[in-house]
Amino acid sequence: MSSTEQYLIQERPYYRPTADEVELFEAAYAARMPVMLKGPTGCGKTRFVEYMAWKLKRPLITVACNEDMTASDLVGRFLLDASGTRWQDGPLTLAARIGAICYLDEVVEARQDTTVVIHPLTDHRRTLPLDKKGELVHAHPDFQLVISYNPGYQNLLKDLKQSTKQRFGALDFGYPETAVEVDVVSHETGIDPKIAEKLVQIAHRARNLKGHGLDEGISTRLLVYAGHLIAKGIEPRAACMMTLVRPLTDDPDMRDTLDAAVATFF
Ligand code: ADP
Repeated sequence: MSSTEQYLIQERPYYRPTADEVELFEAAYAARMPVMLKGPTGCGKTRFVEYMAWKLKRPLITVACNEDMTASDLVGRFLLDASGTRWQDGPLTLAARIGAICYLDEVVEARQDTTVVIHPLTDHRRTLPLDKKGELVHAHPDFQLVISYNPGYQNLLKDLKQSTKQRFGALDFGYPETAVEVDVVSHETGIDPKIAEKLVQIAHRARNLKGHGLDEGISTRLLVYAGHLIAKGIEPRAACMMTLVRPLTDDPDMRDTLDAAVATFF
């Protein structure tokens, strides 16, 4: 199987659009504009990119960024093997060569010296210099760079520089509106929409506590987790405790508050 085929998404991913993001992304792709998806964790950014890659029939290469990541992890490195040294492309280089959509998830986690390697790929040059190898890769015409960014986590020490931010068009993502989120949770887990609705209501309560003791509200992803446990026959309160309360906070008062919210509905 060729690299391109390997990264193609075969089955249509389930994605419920929340506004005009699909049309906007299609136009951005047609212009080969780099795109930044902004929003809290677990609100559908990754699913959206998967859906768009499928819709545009482009291979998708996803990289989960972290603070230990170096530029070599993105662009590639020389490896030693029996016959000497061998260059191995990193995921960004591979994506640029085969014309994939490259999705750098939580790019702000990566060190700044790592983020600057994407710069020449995001402007008219569309190139990627492999300094160690002495090669200048010209991106395939179908290549596109997409990054995700959670504005909630950022502080001054760890933020994308304006010189990086201003290379992207941006789409705002938030938790879907009630009816859509209920659909998502019941579709993903098979639970009754009435139960999904209760889970969404609990999330609304918790989301109001963001900034008042909680760093982040309950994500759609966690609601889907709760739904999976309920679908497996777990009693809803226990399911909510495991997926909606414990992951969010260790503060005993805050846990009581969330617990009370769960008890109102189940
Ligand atoms: P993010 O990348 O924003 O952290 P994900 O894309 O992984 O979040 O979304 C988490 C889960 O939430 C997905 O696996 C999916 O089940 C669900 N989800 C969220 N929004 C949507 C949506 N609009 N359509 C379909 N599923 C969604």
